[in-house]
Amino acid sequence: MTDSTAPYGFATRAIHAGQEPDPTTGSVIVPIHATSTYAQDGVGGLRQGYEYSRTGNPTRTALEECLASLERGRHGRAFSSGMGATDTAIRALCRPGDHIVIPNDAYGGTFRLIDKVFKLWGIEHTPVALSDVDAVRAAIRPNTKVVWVETPTNPLLNIADIAALAEVAHHAGAKLVVDNTFASPALQTPLELGADVVLHSTTKYVGGHSDVVGGALITSDSELDAAFGFLQNGAGAVPGPFDAFLTLRGIKTLELRMEKHSDNAELVVEALVKHPKVTKVLYPGLPAHPGHEVAAKQMRRFGGMISFTVAGGEEAALAVCSRTKLFTLAESLGGVESLIEHPGKMTHASTAGSMLEVPSDLVRISVGIESGDDLVADLLEALA
Ligand code: PLP
Repeated sequence: MTDSTAPYGFATRAIHAGQEPDPTTGSVIVPIHATSTYAQDGVGGLRQGYEYSRTGNPTRTALEECLASLERGRHGRAFSSGMGATDTAIRALCRPGDHIVIPNDAYGGTFRLIDKVFKLWGIEHTPVALSDVDAVRAAIRPNTKVVWVETPTNPLLNIADIAALAEVAHHAGAKLVVDNTFASPALQTPLELGADVVLHSTTKYVGGHSDVVGGALITSDSELDAAFGFLQNGAGAVPGPFDAFLTLRGIKTLELRMEKHSDNAELVVEALVKHPKVTKVLYPGLPAHPGHEVAAKQMRRFGGMISFTVAGGEEAALAVCSRTKLFTLAESLGGVESLIEHPGKMTHASTAGSMLEVPSDLVRISVGIESGDDLVADLLEALA
């Protein structure tokens, strides 16, 4: 099953898309094709289209076809990291002199790449609050080639209206790229809302077990896919077959995991909003969240990421981060285990001093799939 329009449910596609039993051995699970090169029957006589593993590898192909199917796209490309995918997308879509609109609370690594690397190559950017569609429209210039979207954003959990922004971008002749890392395709499928490209750090929910770093680009535009493929091979930020295997293994349970992440996050949010030391809870599932209505329209559930601010400023936030027992103090997110971090000093340290700087009293948690009551108790103890 390789057709992304296949009339199967999400979980069926997660387990079967791109993953036929191996034709030579019957192996039910896609093998780890640990090879760098492929025998040819005479010069140019490729047996199954594979020539060299930077260009293509059957384990990676299975992952790419599965990712495309989950995002309802025609083409998928896997990368060695989310940043490898980000770098490829920008280089495929922009030339020196072009301009990108980015979220004013973009993931720190995305901002760093655009601000510290692409700026040197003459690609300009404007940070904007993407929840404000008129502000995005106003930020667009004649040379804008990309509107870069994260929704929900990392770490402020802001929500952007994908369908509305696709219209704004397309009206200006720009492409809409959606970093779908926080929602995962189990909760949100941007291509169906008008996006041109979906990006993932598969390191997070897609892989889901904090044991592999990877990235992906999915599109239904064959020309764009060809440009991504050219850079994937030409610049070489590809995942190895072991990484592709691990990511594919994680994907099989993505739908189940996202349900449990969302269930547990709802329990945690309920406890946090009532806590006297918690000054603000950022979660798109809360009816009071400014993006709740849009999130409810475009997401199936609200996911496992929560940020909150605590009374007592940075010192209190750092103290909470160091006191939990089940929530491990670590960067990253989206794994089965719960994590806690201080964005200002950790994942978003690169935004310090810029207009993307995050509040110093902010704590971000990635709610895992442990027993929900245990997670609530752990946080309450750390806040006490
Ligand atoms: N996009 C988002 C929203 C992220 O959170 C991250 C990493 O944290 C990335 C992209 C970059 O992905 P990677 O760490 O796999 O390179």
